[in-house]
Amino acid sequence: MNQQADIRRLLPSVDQILAWPLIQQLQQDHGQPLVKQAVTAELDLLRQHNSPCEPDLLAAAIESHLVRVLSPSLRKVFNLTGTVLHTNLGRAPLPEEAIKAMCEVARGASNLEFDLETGKRGDRDSHVEAWLCRLTGAEAATVVNNNAAAVLLMLNTLARSKEVIVSRGELVEIGGAFRVPDIMQRAQCKLREVGTTNRTHLRDYNEAVEARTALMMTVHTSNYVIQGFTASVPEAQLAQAAHEHGVPYVVDLGSGSLVDLRRWGLPYEPTPMDSLANGADLVSFSGDKLLGGPQAGIIVGKRVLIERLKKNALKRALRCDKVTLAALEAVLRLYANPEQLAHRLPSLRWLSRSQPSIAQQAERLIPAIQLWAGTRYEVTSEPVMGQIGSGALPVEQLPSQALVLTPIASKRDANRSLQSAQKSLRNLPIPVIGRINDGRLILDLRCLDEDSELLAQLKQYPLG
Ligand SMILES: *Cc1c(COP(=O)(O)O)cnc(C)c1O
Repeated sequence: MNQQADIRRLLPSVDQILAWPLIQQLQQDHGQPLVKQAVTAELDLLRQHNSPCEPDLLAAAIESHLVRVLSPSLRKVFNLTGTVLHTNLGRAPLPEEAIKAMCEVARGASNLEFDLETGKRGDRDSHVEAWLCRLTGAEAATVVNNNAAAVLLMLNTLARSKEVIVSRGELVEIGGAFRVPDIMQRAQCKLREVGTTNRTHLRDYNEAVEARTALMMTVHTSNYVIQGFTASVPEAQLAQAAHEHGVPYVVDLGSGSLVDLRRWGLPYEPTPMDSLANGADLVSFSGDKLLGGPQAGIIVGKRVLIERLKKNALKRALRCDKVTLAALEAVLRLYANPEQLAHRLPSLRWLSRSQPSIAQQAERLIPAIQLWAGTRYEVTSEPVMGQIGSGALPVEQLPSQALVLTPIASKRDANRSLQSAQKSLRNLPIPVIGRINDGRLILDLRCLDEDSELLAQLKQYPLG
C-alpha cells in the first residue's frame, strides 16, 4: 500500500470531526452548514498536501477558517491615499447627523411614501425635494441611485429615439465604465457629436439642429482638462440657442458643489445654481462627490421636465432606498448653515484642512510610526500634493503633508520591502491604504481624523 492511500485511510470522516466537542460548540455558535463546509475544506487541504491528521491542529484550522469566513468583507479602512473622495474607498464620509437618520429609518417603519398630512400615498422624493429647491433655487427636483442613473433617466425621458447634441470635447469616460456615448446608446438616444476635441463653437451646435434634435447637453469634463488652443460654448449661450430651437438644455455637472468652495480656500467648482442661472433646464450631479452625502444622483430644474422624469418607468428601477434618502435629507439640512458646514460635514472638513495642521499631526506621529516600521525604514514628514478625487478639479491639487517610509536597503530589495510594508498595512485589523511613489511609501494624513485608533493597532502589530 503506498503512503498516500495510507494517510487518506487514516483521516477521520467529516461526521467524526463534527462530533468532536470543540466542533460541536462551533456548530452551536455558527450553524451546522457553515462548520461542515469548513471541515470539508480543511480535510481537502490535508488530503491535497498528503498530511496526516493531528486533531488539535485540524480543529484550530477549522476554527480560523470560520473566523475568516465570518469576518465582514466590507469594512472600515484608513484612507491615507491623499485622494479625499476616493471612489474605490467609498467616496464621501457621512456626518453623524446622517448616520443617526439612517439608523432611525432602517430600524422600523417610516413615512417613506406616506403623506402624514392627508393620510394618503406620498412621494419618496418629497423628503429631499424641498431642501434641494431651497438650496439651488430650482422649481423641482428628483433623486435616483447615482449620477450615472440621473443622466440615463434624463436622456431616456427627454430624447428617446431622438438626437442629443454634445461637443466632442465632452465625450468623457468616468472610471467604472460611465462613458457618455455608451450611456446615450443605453438611453436609446442618438449622440450627435459636434465640434472637435479641443474646439467647439456655437455655430457647430446650431448647424447640427434638425427635426430629430431633442436635447442640447453639456457634460462637465470632470476628470481631465483640455488646454492650449481651445474653445467651448458657455452655458448661457447654449441655453439660449437650445431654447431658440425649442429644445431643452441639460447639464451633467458630475461633482457639482452646493456652495462656492473658494470660501474655504479651495478652487472654484461649478455649482448647479450657476447652471440654472445660466438657463439650464435640468442639472444633474452626484450625492457622494463634493456634496459630501450618500451615493445618489440628483436632478434639479424645471418642474414640467422633472414631472416627466418621475413618470418614466425607469425612475422606479433607479429610485433610492429609504436609508439613502434619510442620509441625503440630513446632509442637505447642514447646508442651511454654511458657516458651520466645514465643522459638520466631514468631507469638507478634510478638504479644507490646512497644510500646517496636517504637518503638525505628521510631526506628532513620526516617533510611533518609526517604532512600528523598525530600523529597516527611515520615517520622515514631507509636504505632498493630494487630490479632491471623484473627478472633481483634476488639475488642482491639495497641498498636504505625509509620513514617508524610505527603505534603508539596496534598490532591488527596497521595492520588495516597500511592497511588504504596504501589504502589512493592508492586513491590519483596520487596513491602512497608502501609496508607493518613487521608491517610497507615502501616507497622506489629510483624511486621518484621529491618531489613537491607528496608533493602537500599530503598537499591537509592529512591522519589524
Ligand atoms: C462622476 C460623474 C458621473 C457619474 O456619477 P456617479 O454618481 O458616479 O454615478 C457622471 N458624469 C460626470 C461628469 C461625473 O463626473
